[in-house]
Amino acid sequence: MKAFHFIDEEVVSIIKPDDEGMFTVQIKASTNLLNAKNIIIATGMNDNIESSNIKNLAQFWGNSIFTCGYCHGFEYAGKKAGLYVNNEMFLKLMVPIVYNWNKNLTVFGSKTAIDHINEDDELKKREIKTVSHSSIAEIVGDETQIKSVILLNCDKIELDVLHYVPNSVINMKDLVTKWSRT
Ligand SMILES: Cc1cc2nc3c(=O)[nH]c(=O)nc-3n(C[C@H](O)[C@H](O)[C@H](O)COP(=O)(O)OP(=O)(O)OC[C@H]3O[C@@H](n4cnc5c(N)ncnc54)[C@H](O)[C@@H]3O)c2cc1C
Repeated sequence: MKAFHFIDEEVVSIIKPDDEGMFTVQIKASTNLLNAKNIIIATGMNDNIESSNIKNLAQFWGNSIFTCGYCHGFEYAGKKAGLYVNNEMFLKLMVPIVYNWNKNLTVFGSKTAIDHINEDDELKKREIKTVSHSSIAEIVGDETQIKSVILLNCDKIELDVLHYVPNSVINMKDLVTKWSRT
C-alpha cells in the first residue's frame, strides 16, 4: 500500500476552522478540498531577478552569477570575481567567503554598504578593491558566461564570476507566516 500520493497542482489556500480541527487545502485545478492533520509547507523562494532591472541578468543567473559564494565560490576559484551587494550586513558576511576563493575581488554596491565595508580594517589590509556606488545596468558575456558588468555611470568591470543578492521573496509568505507555529 502506498504511504503517500503526489498531486502536482498549485495550492491556493490553506485554512483551519479552529485549533482542534484539520487543515483544509484548496488546489487551483479542482474544487475538491484536501484535509490534513499536519502540513509541511516547502514552497521555497523566488529570486525575483526581474525586479533587479539589470539587463541580461537571467541569461547568466545560476551559471556565472550566483547568490552564494559559500556554495559556488570553488567553481571559480582564482578567477576575477565581483561581489555586488547592497545590504551592508550581508556584504560583510560575503566578503571573506568570496575572498577565500578569489583574491582578485572587486566589491561594489550602494554607498552605505561600501562605506560600511571600508571601515573594516580586516578588509583594507587584504587590499580588496571597492569601486563606484553606481548600480549595475547590464551584464555582458558569451552564452551563460559573464565577461563584464556595465554600471549606470558607464564604468565597466571585467569579471569571470559575479555574486549578487537579489530581492528574493518567500513564496506563499502569508500562508507560511500564518501557519508556521501551528
Ligand atoms: C542558482 C542557484 C544555485 C544554488 N546553489 C545551491 C548550492 O550549491 N547548494 C545549496 O545548498 N543550495 C543552493 N541553492 C539553494 C537551493 O536551491 C534552495 O535552498 C533549495 O532549492 C530550497 O528547497 P525548497 O524545497 O525549500 O524550495 P524549492 O526548491 O524552491 O521548491 C519549492 C517548490 O514549491 C513549489 N511551489 C511554490 N508555490 C507553490 C504552491 N502555491 N502550490 C504548489 N507548489 C508550490 C515550487 O514550484 C517549487 O517546485 C541554489 C539556488 C539557486 C537559485
